[in-house]
Amino acid sequence: MNIFEEVESNVRSYCRSFPDTFLSAKGSIIKAASGKPYIDFFAGAGALNYGHNHEHIKRRLIEYIESDGIIHSLDMYTVAKEQFLHSFRLTTLNKLNYPYKVQFCGPTGTNAVEAAIKLARKVTKRAGIFAFMGSFHGMSLGSLSITSNNYHRQAAGIPLSNVTFIPYPGDIYDINSIDYIEKILQDDHSGVDKPAAIVVETIQAEGGINIAPIDWLQALSEICKKHEILLICDEVQVGCGRTGSFFSFEEAGIVPDLVILSKSISGYGLPMALLLIKEQYDIWAPGEHNGTFRGNQLAFVAATAALELWDSKQFQEVARENSSLIKTVFEKKFVTLDPEIQVRGKGMIWGIDFSGIPIKEIAYEVRDICFSNGLIVECVGRKDTVVKILPPLTIEQGVLRQGLEILADSIKMALK
Ligand code: PMP
Repeated sequence: MNIFEEVESNVRSYCRSFPDTFLSAKGSIIKAASGKPYIDFFAGAGALNYGHNHEHIKRRLIEYIESDGIIHSLDMYTVAKEQFLHSFRLTTLNKLNYPYKVQFCGPTGTNAVEAAIKLARKVTKRAGIFAFMGSFHGMSLGSLSITSNNYHRQAAGIPLSNVTFIPYPGDIYDINSIDYIEKILQDDHSGVDKPAAIVVETIQAEGGINIAPIDWLQALSEICKKHEILLICDEVQVGCGRTGSFFSFEEAGIVPDLVILSKSISGYGLPMALLLIKEQYDIWAPGEHNGTFRGNQLAFVAATAALELWDSKQFQEVARENSSLIKTVFEKKFVTLDPEIQVRGKGMIWGIDFSGIPIKEIAYEVRDICFSNGLIVECVGRKDTVVKILPPLTIEQGVLRQGLEILADSIKMALK
């Protein structure tokens, strides 16, 4: 087999950013077919918070398969589904006193985003959605319509409508977006109708690790309540413990009307996407929103095992120590490499912003040097000028240190 011919016939572009062929993976190490190991600071863009092939989750999956547990059941009620719902309630929703019902929307994040937009429109009988500049919500038509990047949007081939984009805190427009929303909603001449929903990421991950301040999230929640607009929080990339708490909005003390979860919820990289719906908005009639592969049984089994890990003190301790190490290295070491380097992050999601450095495509250069040195990172943000890292929360400290050293050396080489 000529692997590179095969790569040419693959329409996805990831293989070209990471020019190798991967064979196996364990924890935070991926191995290429050649045997070369790579430290994985990409973790499936946040789908692998528990790392690759976590022993506890793997064992549960093997036991389930060996017992001929039902794999595909469409919408039938199953023991695996019941067990997942039970532990999801116990370990997250009930503990936090969150009044959500759970809808399975899978297989992937964009499906749950679509469901959220559709439900918000049905609840409010309004069409418009407010989203934020710098947002990323997926590639299908509804989720793409609330994604701001024009490169992605133009791929739809048609104008994407019914969405008003609002500046995100800290971005280049530098306005108070809460006041702006209030003004356009009250101004008869703004030409903007009251929307069904406002969709927000607490940290714009693909957008460049832009972090919404807590008081801004609280004000957004208040303005939504005041105007009876649904607040939708897209937790696809930063949920499931990535920022330190299970839901990234916990710290703000807000309770969004709808919450979208995917990526790491299954804990093993298996496709799974959920929409959490406040009880009063559970208004779908039977059959109004369904699909063949929503609620994959293996994903339920893996997710239940992952929640057991999440709920353990030991797991949380490891994640806390890892995030404190990254914070120290980013804030004390990386910023000293060049006065124009900026760092931003929280928990186990961090970015190094090279936009102030006048070297063409330096972020790509850093990513590529990292890759040849055995570390996988990705570029995000406006013009891809931010190097993003999202190691598994479970990464061993020694491997984390080694990865951060490769990153520091690669930045130094790219700056030369
Ligand atoms: N929302 C956010 C915040 C995301 O980061 C992503 C994927 N990167 C999506 C939605 C779409 O998820 P998927 O690729 O699984 O459709």
